Amino acid sequence: MKKLLLSVLLLVTVRSFSQTIIQKDPEIEQMVKEISADSLRSYIYTLVSFGTRNTLSTQTDPKRGIGAARNWVLSRFNEFAKASSGRLSAIIDTTTLQPDGKRVTHTILLGNVVATLKGTDPADNRIFLISGHLDNMRSSPTDSLGDAPGANDDGSGTVAVMECARVMSKHSFPATIIFVAVSGEEQGLLGSGFMSEKAKKENWNIEAVLNNDIMGSNNSNETNIIDNTRVRVFSEGLPAFETEKNAVNIRNLGLENDGKARQLARYVKEIGERYVDNLQVVMVYRNDRFLRGGDHTPYVQRGYAAVRITEMNENYTRQHQDLRTEKGIDYGDLPQHVDYEYLRKNTCMNLANLASLAKAPSMPDSVKMEVRRLTNSTLLTWQAPKTGKVKGYYILMRETTSAFWQRKFFTSATEMRLPYSKDNYFFAVQSVNESGNESLPVVPLPAR
Ligand SMILES: [Zn+2]
Repeated sequence: MKKLLLSVLLLVTVRSFSQTIIQKDPEIEQMVKEISADSLRSYIYTLVSFGTRNTLSTQTDPKRGIGAARNWVLSRFNEFAKASSGRLSAIIDTTTLQPDGKRVTHTILLGNVVATLKGTDPADNRIFLISGHLDNMRSSPTDSLGDAPGANDDGSGTVAVMECARVMSKHSFPATIIFVAVSGEEQGLLGSGFMSEKAKKENWNIEAVLNNDIMGSNNSNETNIIDNTRVRVFSEGLPAFETEKNAVNIRNLGLENDGKARQLARYVKEIGERYVDNLQVVMVYRNDRFLRGGDHTPYVQRGYAAVRITEMNENYTRQHQDLRTEKGIDYGDLPQHVDYEYLRKNTCMNLANLASLAKAPSMPDSVKMEVRRLTNSTLLTWQAPKTGKVKGYYILMRETTSAFWQRKFFTSATEMRLPYSKDNYFFAVQSVNESGNESLPVVPLPAR
């Protein structure tokens, strides 16, 4: 009985503790409110009006094909730039693709539409990137002539990127945010391969990539589930980047669930659910859906933290399908099948995360765990971040079997001793500012 009472008490304390520390930033709340389902709907209908956005389609027709579509996205970004006091700038970043005998049948100029909202702190070189793919496909990925509406795959991700750019470009952030409508996804993640390779070569400090692909439809085929209250975030476990080298640390410290992408996924869940009502962010412990791929993968392969955001249930009669009716089923990715309220919530979830990350101070530096003596308590030390004004730090703690952080301890110092054993818990440290914006967490390394 005494034990039961104690655990009930503990539960109550933990609950009230976590409630007291949840702080919403009014500026982010305001931006979330500005995301509009009507705006998302009108963008999707315009994208569909280009007939096809297949990467191999025409680039010279002013009304049809990938060329017209990317010019239109660029024109929207340029329109948003007018309200950004010169901080938002947009380009079509191109590269020439040669035929590969597979999904690229002829030489083409691939173009990603990239809008950059420059950070206001010149010392802050962090970049946060949101991505959706503008291109699409019919049943055959090389069919560049027939109609391919691509309202959900990936009109939904593309318009989420555009709507975030529209709302966020009126605000300023210390760090830089990049909004990308990628091309060549259906041809083999070619646009993201091009962009992530450039980022690597030029040493871009990308701290997070949110890849949005198929996020606006609320139902499954076959199982007939309808649900617009949950969205999935996929994150890799064992890192694709320097796998062997990383595996040693993972094995020694038991960090199977604490890679960069997994940390980002936890952050996306916490912040998404903090700012968006009636939306549960469901973490999936996989880089992507079973045996399938997406634009975050070229980034994770190069060592960046990148996740995939996708609707809870997919409807395969509407993905990669020629428009047709067969045995009473209508096939095709049409705009009337998108749930614009669901898409609004998923866009808000993205915005809240981008804004929170870009407003937060940098991650704390040199986060270490004292290991010179065997102790039952845990001493963590760190240094102030390189950029941003901190109010203090959160030490995050969870049991080794817990998917999510369970406790947050605040301190304004740069060390903390906790009466919990490092044998039994995982820890991480994040910086936090006056408005309650937290950096991504840093897992401590042993201090020897
Ligand atoms: Zn897609």
